[in-house]
Amino acid sequence: MQDVLRRIRVVLVGTTHPGNIGSTVRAMKTMGLSDLVLVDPQRFPAAEATALAAGADDLLARARVAPDLAGAIDDCIWVTGTSARRRGHSVPPLAPEPAAQALLERARAGTVALVFGRESSGLTNDELDRCNSLVQIPTDPGFSSLNLAAAVQVMAYTCRAKALSLAEAPVPDYDPDPPATQAQLDDLFEHFQRTLVAIEFLDPDKPRHLMRRLRHLYLRTGLTRSEVAILRGILTHTERGGGRPQGRP
Ligand code: SAH
Repeated sequence: MQDVLRRIRVVLVGTTHPGNIGSTVRAMKTMGLSDLVLVDPQRFPAAEATALAAGADDLLARARVAPDLAGAIDDCIWVTGTSARRRGHSVPPLAPEPAAQALLERARAGTVALVFGRESSGLTNDELDRCNSLVQIPTDPGFSSLNLAAAVQVMAYTCRAKALSLAEAPVPDYDPDPPATQAQLDDLFEHFQRTLVAIEFLDPDKPRHLMRRLRHLYLRTGLTRSEVAILRGILTHTERGGGRPQGRP
C-alpha cells in the first residue's frame, strides 16, 4: 500500500503563502505521501513553511521546484486537478472517492499527480486542460473554497482510505501496454494540431475550442503508449496525403 501512495505526486501551483506549503507536507506525511513538486512558488524555502511542516521538513527538503505545470507532470501517466468550482469548458468534476480510486489504480503502473491551484485564483484553464480528470470536494454551495492545505489533507486522506480498502481486494493484472506519459501526450496533441492545420480542418486564426475538445476526449480515455503510436502513425500518413500505407497489401 505504501508503494502505491508514494507514487502519488502532490503539485502545488503558484502558492503565495509558504505556510500552506508547510501544512501541505504535514498533511502528506501523515497519510504516507512523500512526493511534492512546487510550480513557481512565490516564496520558497521559507521559515513559515518549515514551522508549519512540524516535523515533515524532510519532505520540504526533497521538494522539487518546476517553472510550470508541464515541467511538474511530464513523467506522469494520470493527472487529477482540483477545483473549488466548476469552470466553463472543463470536464465534469468527480467526487474525491472515485477520483482517488482512479489515481490509485493508475499508480500501479507509474507516477500520478494531484494538482492544487493558487490560493487566490485556483488553476488556469490551460492548467485544467492538462488534467485527465478533475475533482471537487463537496462543500457548502454558499462557501465552497477550502484552504489549500485543507484541500490537500482531504484528498490525501481519501487516497489513503481507498488504498486501505483496495489492499484487501485482489489485484487484477495490469495491462502490459504501459500508459502514455504527459510528455508523450503533449507531442501527440502538437502533432494533431500540425496535421489538422495542414489538412485545413483547423484554421489557426479561428481555432475555436477544437484542440481543447480533442485534448479532453483523449485525456479522459487514458491512452497507452502503443495507442499513441497508432494515432501518430495515422497523423503522419495523413500529412503525407494518404494512400495505401507502406508494407500493407
Ligand atoms: N478562488 C479559488 C479558490 C482557490 S483555493 C477558486 O475558485 O478556484 C486553492 C486551491 O485549493 C484550489 O485551487 C484547489 O486546488 C483547492 N481547493 C479548495 N477548495 C476546494 C474544493 N472544494 N474542492 C477541490 N479543491 C479545492
